[in-house]
Amino acid sequence: GSTIGILGGGQLGRMLSVAASRLGFKTHIFEPGANPPAGQVADRLTTAEYDDTAALEAFAASVDVITYEFENIPTTALDVLEQHRTIRPGRESLRISQDRLTEKDFLSGLGLRVAPYEKVETVNDLKKAIELVGTPSILKTRRFGYDGKGQSRIMSDDQADQAFSDIQGAPSVLEGFVEFSHEVSVIAARSADGKVACFDPGENVHKDGILATTTVPARLTSAQRTDAVLLAANILNALDYVGVMGVEIFVTHQGLIVNEVAPRVHNSGHWTQQGCSVDQFEQHIRAVVGWPLGDGSRYADVVMENLIGDDMDRVPEIAGERNASLHLYGKAEAKPGRKMGHVNRVTTGPK
Ligand code: ATP
Ligand code: MG
Ligand code: MG
Repeated sequence: GSTIGILGGGQLGRMLSVAASRLGFKTHIFEPGANPPAGQVADRLTTAEYDDTAALEAFAASVDVITYEFENIPTTALDVLEQHRTIRPGRESLRISQDRLTEKDFLSGLGLRVAPYEKVETVNDLKKAIELVGTPSILKTRRFGYDGKGQSRIMSDDQADQAFSDIQGAPSVLEGFVEFSHEVSVIAARSADGKVACFDPGENVHKDGILATTTVPARLTSAQRTDAVLLAANILNALDYVGVMGVEIFVTHQGLIVNEVAPRVHNSGHWTQQGCSVDQFEQHIRAVVGWPLGDGSRYADVVMENLIGDDMDRVPEIAGERNASLHLYGKAEAKPGRKMGHVNRVTTGPK
């Protein structure tokens, strides 16, 4: 059997590791942080920093292929790893998703609709950008943002200075506020031989910038569903992508607008663990090792609820519910805003 190297030891790495193990593969996690959730289930764990060249080389030598569970891997580390092993998905998908400006340029270059946006480097740029994009709008840092961090909402044009200081003057983009009716995502997979398969789109509700629930089926007309799946396939093909990608979409009266993409398994794809024969984690592992994609068709209606912070207090109660599957990440401390686990509730079938 071969060994899969996974960069990042969070819950996504953990669930990838479990899926790999189920198919008879070993996993080796590379994670500088303390007590990583994935470290508890993987065959091997390296806790070195990303600037430790010797550790990166030893990690690469110990695995057959490398994948990742987060997109902010330092470029220098990728340079080292890539000399020794194939990284899937490839560098281009990381380059694009590490930077919101590059990402928006790429998506609009494919002919896809994105929110109106302007590059911002100085507070003067921001003032000009507000004139072009208008208000309400959102200032987002180009790099390192997640769960709504590194963002500032601008309701009127006198808020430029405040917004710029909110994001500490980091290189950023100003985005027009999209009046969406709801949000959906497509979890799409592409195999090494170029076959694409998408899971049924899920409908996402965010609270305080963090994903709260995903519901399948999403409220979409069949034309919208087709559009969503085709645009996702378009993105994966353009990148010659291998693996699973999450594509976040705003549904508006004027059509679908792409918010952002994540070159990895995605929180809004967790429902697939109870809704499909082959879930997003197994699908990603299959792609990365060069297997054919599995059958990801949806056989149940599911609502995924994230368990964040003290939602953990409800675990004993949830554990006794019918048709509820708990997935807990083994994190020691439940801090506010911290994703501790999720529950998939199957809403079709016996009650
Ligand atoms: P993630 O954890 O998904 O990576 P993130 O920090 O990258 O989050 P975004 O996905 O850009 O942040 O934004 C988080 C949420 O904020 C979106 O899902 C959406 O609800 C809202 N939002 C972001 N951009 C816009 C926009 N241009 N117009 C309207 N709402 C937006
Ligand atoms: Mg994001
Ligand atoms: Mg997002």
